[in-house]
Amino acid sequence: MHLLCLHHYLTLKVDLAAAHPEIARHDAQAVALQMARRPVFGFAAAGGGGIVGFCSHAQTMTESMTQECAALYVVPTPLGNLADLTRRAEEILRSVPWVAAEDTRHSGPLLKQLGARARTLPAHQHNENEAAVRIIEKLQAGESVALISDAGTPGISDPGARVVAAVREAGCRVVPLPGPCAATTALSASGLLDEHFLFYGFLPAKSGQRRQALEALCDIPAALVFYEAPHRVLDTVADLASVFGQRTLVIGRELTKLFETIHSLPLPEALDWLKADPNRQRGEFVLMLSGASGEADSGEGERVLKLLLADGLPTKQAAKLAASITGASKNALYDLALSLKAQG
Ligand code: SAM
Repeated sequence: MHLLCLHHYLTLKVDLAAAHPEIARHDAQAVALQMARRPVFGFAAAGGGGIVGFCSHAQTMTESMTQECAALYVVPTPLGNLADLTRRAEEILRSVPWVAAEDTRHSGPLLKQLGARARTLPAHQHNENEAAVRIIEKLQAGESVALISDAGTPGISDPGARVVAAVREAGCRVVPLPGPCAATTALSASGLLDEHFLFYGFLPAKSGQRRQALEALCDIPAALVFYEAPHRVLDTVADLASVFGQRTLVIGRELTKLFETIHSLPLPEALDWLKADPNRQRGEFVLMLSGASGEADSGEGERVLKLLLADGLPTKQAAKLAASITGASKNALYDLALSLKAQG
């Protein structure tokens, strides 16, 4: 049995080497390493980073071996510029027998262009659990699956997390590929100097809930990254301005596409800037906000707080307003207000 496995494996290695030298080289290294460490029959269970689909050739494999060979590949696809598909993503999409796609019609042209012969199965927001069951069946039968969304990285404000969780729970391999993601693409060109960032994704659609969500983020000393749709961008920017006050906003629009724009400006000016030209409200958006400074007494925050307290505003309200006006941390200003009151 083991020798038969070895034969099939080596035969496929040769085919793969011809088709995808990079995958084959990587896998050959893994095999060499495993052969050095284990008896011959053991290496068939060693998962290489790139190999796909050889298990279906090796009918004599045990189930556990099969599970280890097939993998769910999480494959990012371009945000707009097709040249952003990585070579590895291309190779995986060409090699796997199955592609689980958020919208099979949407992804059809990309797969066709690549000459991918994979069959597709739907894995979208409304069928993730059933999709996961089907995907696990394929993996357990030794057939690898590539998971893709309409654009960018699956699972990042896109379906995919449930599928990945279920596949991992079932003990099957999940292999992530690096690649396009609107958040990191936008951040890399934002010029924001914050050491940390918090990726929030989409805010609630209703203004009340959105403002509540934003209030909870006021004191976070990290750049905040939001996704937004064109029909909500004005409302969201208005809420950002009223909750955060003085911060820097960077608007990333239509990244990697013809009308790509990356514009940085003081948050209080952002709404007028967007309204000045309807084209600025079109397309897909990443909104990035500089983080709370975390310092209440860095000058402006403390000065405004003292003015408001002197005007008789309650402590909590004064801290909130001063934070909103200056961008300083609300909690730090509140602590400062308490200690100022205690000092009399
Ligand atoms: N999974 C994707 C990723 O990795 O970025 C995100 C998918 S989410 C459904 C779509 C949102 O991502 C859009 O509404 C927009 O906020 C952002 N986005 C996607 N492509 C973009 C682009 N080319 N420019 C700016 N934002 C984009």
